[in-house]
Amino acid sequence: MKTVLVTGGAGFIGARLARMLIDAGDFVVNLDALTYAADLSRLGGFQNHPRHEFIEGDICDGPLVSSLFREYGFDLVFHLAAESHVDRSIENGCAFARSNVLGTAVLLQTAVNERVSRFVQVSTDEVYGSLGKTDPSWDEDRPLMPNSPYSASKAAGDHFALAFCKTHGLNVSITRCCNNYGPSQHGEKLLPTILRCLKANEPVPVYGDGTNTREWIHTDDHCKALMLVAERGKAGRVYNIGSGVELSNLALVRKLAEMTQFSGDPVRFVADRKGHDQRYALDCSRIRNELGFEPGIGFEDGLKELL
Ligand code: NAD
Repeated sequence: MKTVLVTGGAGFIGARLARMLIDAGDFVVNLDALTYAADLSRLGGFQNHPRHEFIEGDICDGPLVSSLFREYGFDLVFHLAAESHVDRSIENGCAFARSNVLGTAVLLQTAVNERVSRFVQVSTDEVYGSLGKTDPSWDEDRPLMPNSPYSASKAAGDHFALAFCKTHGLNVSITRCCNNYGPSQHGEKLLPTILRCLKANEPVPVYGDGTNTREWIHTDDHCKALMLVAERGKAGRVYNIGSGVELSNLALVRKLAEMTQFSGDPVRFVADRKGHDQRYALDCSRIRNELGFEPGIGFEDGLKELL
């Protein structure tokens, strides 16, 4: 049994990961500040599990983080806590700099001080920037060219993680995953917004001309990949996590409209997001070839679960 710290474990992805780690027999300490994005009902099935400890606290709080590392002696850290919504980062980037950069540095520094043997920095494909419609997908050696305050803060966190590996020998790997979908995502994100509108029989607001393209993976597949990286990934190495399922926002809305038998035009175009990235797509040869990762949940099957 490993003692594992999951940060952001009341969030959309962190709660799924905590559940899967407990099921795998690990002891999970779940540190989350319970921001607007958190939802304790995501812990419904395991909040009181004997191998789960929930701590309400901020990753930027150095003394708290140090005391937790000393008390529990973590074997492994999965760092997911973050401000995660691009639109909010456009309104004000400061909270993103604080949690995603300072908070990440606090965790990395404490992991070095307390000699933690494994650290997984959970990042995003958005750090690579934006692809043109026909550009080849990104592999892990692409330079980071983030465009939103959100992706800039995540890229900074990634640079810190690699610097702590190089400087201090911290055994840290970085994962960069595409867009996640799955149960219990916050209502402000794209997919829940689409489903909410369609269910209310209203057209879905779509930014710009709707041609912006994203790659989609189920949260459970993302979490499966995170556990594989923790177990067999190499220090200082980055692993893209994707599915190969690429869809424009327009195609996604139309697909869900069909699946929910929406009648009429499901799309209402609205002014584009500032600095809107055109396309994200990942080359996942590394995680497939080195760690044998393949996503297991088909896109339509995963979507049906959400209808
Ligand atoms: P989320 O917004 O649903 O959850 C984030 C959680 O972190 C929340 O529970 C929040 O309370 C907590 N948190 C925020 N700031 C904190 C702080 N200072 N201290 C402690 N806790 C804090 O996010 P998510 O969608 O679950 O994403 C989790 C991670 O995965 C993030 O790092 C994100 O960048 C990354 N990621 C997400 C996606 C996606 O599609 N959702 C894709 C790739 C990578």
